[in-house]
Amino acid sequence: MRNEFGEFREMATFSWQYPVSGFYWENNLKPLRSLEYGTEKEIHENEYVPKPFLIESPEVMTMKRYLPLDEEPALFLKFSDTDISEEGILRFANKYGRLWSNNGYLIDIEQIEFIPKIEVRSKEEQYNLWFPNVEERGHSFIIGEPFIYWKTEIISMRNAIRLWKWIENEDIGKLSLVVNWDRVGGGFDCALGEINDIKLFRRLPREEQRSRGFEYNIKYRYFNKNISKELLGLTKKDDIILPAKILLNDIINTKLKNHPLHLRLLLDENNYPKQFVVPESLLGAMWFQFFQSITGEKKYKKCAVCGTWENVNEKREDWLYHDSCGSTFRSRKRRGLISIIVGKKTIEEVAESCGVSVSVVKEWIENK
Ligand SMILES: [Zn+2]
Repeated sequence: MRNEFGEFREMATFSWQYPVSGFYWENNLKPLRSLEYGTEKEIHENEYVPKPFLIESPEVMTMKRYLPLDEEPALFLKFSDTDISEEGILRFANKYGRLWSNNGYLIDIEQIEFIPKIEVRSKEEQYNLWFPNVEERGHSFIIGEPFIYWKTEIISMRNAIRLWKWIENEDIGKLSLVVNWDRVGGGFDCALGEINDIKLFRRLPREEQRSRGFEYNIKYRYFNKNISKELLGLTKKDDIILPAKILLNDIINTKLKNHPLHLRLLLDENNYPKQFVVPESLLGAMWFQFFQSITGEKKYKKCAVCGTWENVNEKREDWLYHDSCGSTFRSRKRRGLISIIVGKKTIEEVAESCGVSVSVVKEWIENK
């Protein structure tokens, strides 16, 4: 007998929710405790509390559920492209929900009278609006996710995707700025960020780089004999690609450790056992998508012209742009090649402006 797969699937599939009336940024609430991945901590008197917080808009507390992994398979790419501003993050959150369910700051529900958006006569009325099904008031909290948490997460996703693309394109020019072998210390260090920031950062004296990454928006990592002996055994000195791959693996594995995935064994519609992977949070789900993308289970490429991410599993290996973006691409390519020939632009600059790797531009020149 075939199994209808209804309830089982509900349990096994990762779903997430967002408030129909959206979120807003709140600056005035005073949280009572911090919540770090489920662990509550007291806030000391002079402790810095990062604001503003992302809070569900209290007007209507209706939530809408969706299946991020099925409905938004490239969400990690949209997340990394999210504009780091209050408006940009709000747009993303209003569409896809919070990043966590157990990370941020706990705000006592008693404080909701400070919430400016709501016009009610009494606290009771406010409370009933927020928790219509709960009769006892007790100690109830809402969770606020600080702006800085979002910013940090968008930047780490962005850095990792950038690194991944440079590795895929074998962009030695950029990767040799990221990875830097230390001839004395017997290891290598890595600088992640926007390419222009990395360039500036790498001009610093080496001994200063370790402590000044923050000033240059650089995430700095160090791999030496003491912390990663086995890894170093795999690499040859002055190799750039392999250390970059090791760095990317390290980033993804650290993220998956912080945002664990749960395995569930369930029967599929023909009653065969099948494995399901269920992330704990939206952020975990997005890192899982990224993981799948790297291992080739779901491949994405950014259109060289319009910048939209496209699933390329069914497309040719060398897919570069949408059919509809073809004419723009061809004219950029033509102009690019001319400016290389007349010496106005370098191969690297043309690769950048056409959205392709340096080796692709070299092929164009050879085949001309
Ligand atoms: Zn396009």
